[in-house]
Amino acid sequence: MAKQLRHCSFCGRPESQVEFMIMGQNNSQICNECALQAAEIVKENAVSKSKLPNIHRDNVPKPMEIKEYLDQYVIGQDEAKKFLSVAVYNHYKRLMQEKTNDDVEIEKSNIIMVGSTGTGKTLLARTIARKLHVPFTIVDATVLTEAGYVGEDIESILTRLLQVADYDVKAAERGIVFIDEIDKIARKSDNPSITRDVSGEGVQQGLLKLLEGSVVNVPPQGGRKHPEQKMIAVNTQNILFICGGAFDGIEKKIAARLNTKVVGYSATLEKEHIDKHNLLQYIAPQDLKSFGLIPEIIGRLPILTYLEPLDREALRNILTEPKNSIVKQYLKLFRMDDIELVFAPEVLDYIVDKAIEFKLGARGLRSITETIIMDKMYEMPSKKEPTLFIELPYAISKIEKANVNRLKSA
Ligand code: ADP
Repeated sequence: MAKQLRHCSFCGRPESQVEFMIMGQNNSQICNECALQAAEIVKENAVSKSKLPNIHRDNVPKPMEIKEYLDQYVIGQDEAKKFLSVAVYNHYKRLMQEKTNDDVEIEKSNIIMVGSTGTGKTLLARTIARKLHVPFTIVDATVLTEAGYVGEDIESILTRLLQVADYDVKAAERGIVFIDEIDKIARKSDNPSITRDVSGEGVQQGLLKLLEGSVVNVPPQGGRKHPEQKMIAVNTQNILFICGGAFDGIEKKIAARLNTKVVGYSATLEKEHIDKHNLLQYIAPQDLKSFGLIPEIIGRLPILTYLEPLDREALRNILTEPKNSIVKQYLKLFRMDDIELVFAPEVLDYIVDKAIEFKLGARGLRSITETIIMDKMYEMPSKKEPTLFIELPYAISKIEKANVNRLKSA
């Protein structure tokens, strides 16, 4: 009997006109092209059907639980952790409130975190993101410019959120956005330390629109390269914004404000209580205004918190304590080659000393550690030694030979 020619059960084309057929039951088959088309249809349907996470009281982490989670990865910064945990918890509550019918509407409380670079702002944001059931993205304010200028439009913030939400608009509309380096869009005139003005005030006005809650047309692929792309309307009313910035030099504004307040108001007593080494703890909204944020933006970021500068003890803890601390990461790297890596405690102290000496803060810990054990990472996998001790003289010799400038630019 002649071999029967197979046809695609969808488009009807014979096997000879397609690349291949996938067989189904009862003599049915689908050609490669129809299979691809079917996959597209499935994908489109999946996107239009929102996969909203099921948020209800039982599966929402409580503030203490969120903070305990943050404690595993971020050293210190208790104040910021508490503020963040409560804000995220309240964000969930706002999302749940839609189901009740009373007149009380919980408004959203966007947050602003102020703290020197390398004190853990981004780390806090990234860590909290892992604990969340809502889309989360981090954007850098330095790339934002007013529409029409080189850079990214404000709407690109929402493009990112849409992307992480797999273009599920409903899910994105409940997401959280971390805007890093918010201080870089401060008004130039109020802040002479900013040399590059990314058209500060215009960007702030644009951002205000998002923070306030409005329907924004978002280019799904971002950028301005595809003018023909169809915009997606996103309502920002339920999106929580967390902003972070170093606000270099803001201590001067705080000091100035505190002094003016102190004068003529039981001066001596107040002055005694001011901890001059950590002025950030006294930060108030008017300092952000003096720095160059417009009052409307400040008004939309009602929760203001700060990060502590990292002292020697904090840096030492950062090396070893967090769940994925730098030291734990190197131990793991060596363990994968069946080598037990042991740092002498003095080496860890030395790494901290150098990070402080080179003014590198927490960011420097990794580059200094890496410099110390680079040669060992090169040699050890080819050796058959089960243990590697890193002693102080060895560490010193490596750092003294290293190009300090290279470390500093880390
Ligand atoms: P920021 O956003 O404040 O400039 P980052 O969060 O990016 O600082 O911190 C840089 C790196 O320094 C982090 O990846 C982390 O390794 C380390 N680090 C900074 N602060 C802390 C902290 N409080 N606890 C643990 N690690 C920290």
